[in-house]
Amino acid sequence: MVHVVWFKRDFRTLDHAPLHAASFADEVFPLAVIEPSIWDAGDLSKRHYQFVKESMHDLDQRLQKMGNQLHVRVDEMIPVLETLYATWGQFTMHSHMEHGLSHTYERDKAVKAWMDAHQCRWTETPGFGVKRGTYVGHRPSFMKTYLKEPVYPVPRSLKSVNKVPNGFSDSSILDGYTPPGTLASNPLKGGETAAIKQANSFFQTRTKTYLKHMTKPAYSFTSSSLLSAYLTWGNISIKSLHKATQNHLDSPEKKPKKALQSFSSRVYWHCHFVEKVEMKPWINTVSKDPRYEGVRTTNEEWFERFKKGTTGFPFVDACMRFLHAKAWLNFRQRAMLTSFACNTLLLDWRDVGQFLAQSWIDYEPGIHWSQIQMQSGLIAPRHIPIYDVIKQSKETDPDGVFIQSQIPELAACSSANIHEPWKLADNPYIAPMIDYDAILNENKEKLYAIKKLPERTVHV
Ligand SMILES: Cc1cc2nc3c(=O)[nH]c(=O)nc-3n(C[C@H](O)[C@H](O)[C@H](O)COP(=O)(O)OP(=O)(O)OC[C@H]3O[C@@H](n4cnc5c(N)ncnc54)[C@H](O)[C@@H]3O)c2cc1C
Repeated sequence: MVHVVWFKRDFRTLDHAPLHAASFADEVFPLAVIEPSIWDAGDLSKRHYQFVKESMHDLDQRLQKMGNQLHVRVDEMIPVLETLYATWGQFTMHSHMEHGLSHTYERDKAVKAWMDAHQCRWTETPGFGVKRGTYVGHRPSFMKTYLKEPVYPVPRSLKSVNKVPNGFSDSSILDGYTPPGTLASNPLKGGETAAIKQANSFFQTRTKTYLKHMTKPAYSFTSSSLLSAYLTWGNISIKSLHKATQNHLDSPEKKPKKALQSFSSRVYWHCHFVEKVEMKPWINTVSKDPRYEGVRTTNEEWFERFKKGTTGFPFVDACMRFLHAKAWLNFRQRAMLTSFACNTLLLDWRDVGQFLAQSWIDYEPGIHWSQIQMQSGLIAPRHIPIYDVIKQSKETDPDGVFIQSQIPELAACSSANIHEPWKLADNPYIAPMIDYDAILNENKEKLYAIKKLPERTVHV
């Protein structure tokens, strides 16, 4: 019987339980499918596609060293399964369990129904510390169980199939498909090789300044781990990273222990938030607090200026321009941009969330949509995270180094004026698009007044 390994958001060979399980079989078919319905759903962009393409090329090369290759097709899953069945009859499929939004969850249900109807077995293995069918309270125990599992080794060899079905190609076929959207450039290269390099350089050098620069926009890109995209697209596993961190912590050599511990707890959060979308695959559309429905609206002009980084607020615009260039921001910058758009401009969190999902390369539905709702004040019972963008600018970029790196018009502006250049008699930058204090205070009052209303049924 042929064993298919379906690679989804897990483009790696180390610690890949489905690949490991299939490696004992006589005929193995490594498969990756670009499903237009998933790529057209609105939350993914060209930026992600570029990363996925690089990840697949890298995976293909690794599989070739094992004597096999990655078989790629641009199609929906059911026609793909039909082709496999027409070629071999019954087959077995292995994959990681995917924790995504409703459309991927529904796709998986259709795949399961098809496999059952054709008496083909599909084994889905947890790839994070998340178990299907459990609830928040059970997480810690499963996380421990997951982390205790072995790191599955890279198979030495992988026997290929005797008959390759029609309609599959190598990873070069990926160049023939273009997903919608405009954001394309991407400084981080996708793939397991790049992920391992990134992890090693973090442990060897960046841990030294990790905590110090975590919230500092001018330095966090060169001090943070920058592993989120590799975790999201599965170029490296949580488990192998956790074990590597433990090895560094246990090492007799002098290591920045606080940084390593902090990193370790963040990696743990990754699973915690992935679990949120497993439980609520509709978190990109259904507000956790329905009392806020209808409060936020769409102001096309404001939204366009926010997206382009031309609001007239230097720090907000610098963050946005940096995001366009680097596909990444640190946590505080992401939170501030979300809060500015959803709480100050009162733009709909779903529109803002979709645009930001397309923009950062590490878009992970569970983390992303939980944070978008959280930063829009839809989760905490009493608190709304409203950031004062001028205070944030002065606190995290006191000399304006970051602003100047992104906004050439302000290159000659002094650090005393760079945060609020509109106060100068001759403002060298775009005029602010809103009267900041007035709108912020008005909307703060509006949003907090809703928190005081009697709680209506909150969507689960
Ligand atoms: C509005 C908003 C949206 C976000 N969307 C995403 C997203 O789509 N994907 C994503 O990976 N992170 C997201 N984050 C969390 C965080 O900003 C990024 O994980 C972090 O900036 C990635 O940089 P790093 O890899 O250098 O992280 P590090 O600080 O080095 O952390 C190591 C790893 O821990 C995990 N991690 C760190 N912070 C968090 C967190 N708050 N919640 C869950 N896991 C975390 C990530 O996997 C990260 O790679 C979001 C935050 C906000 C406020």
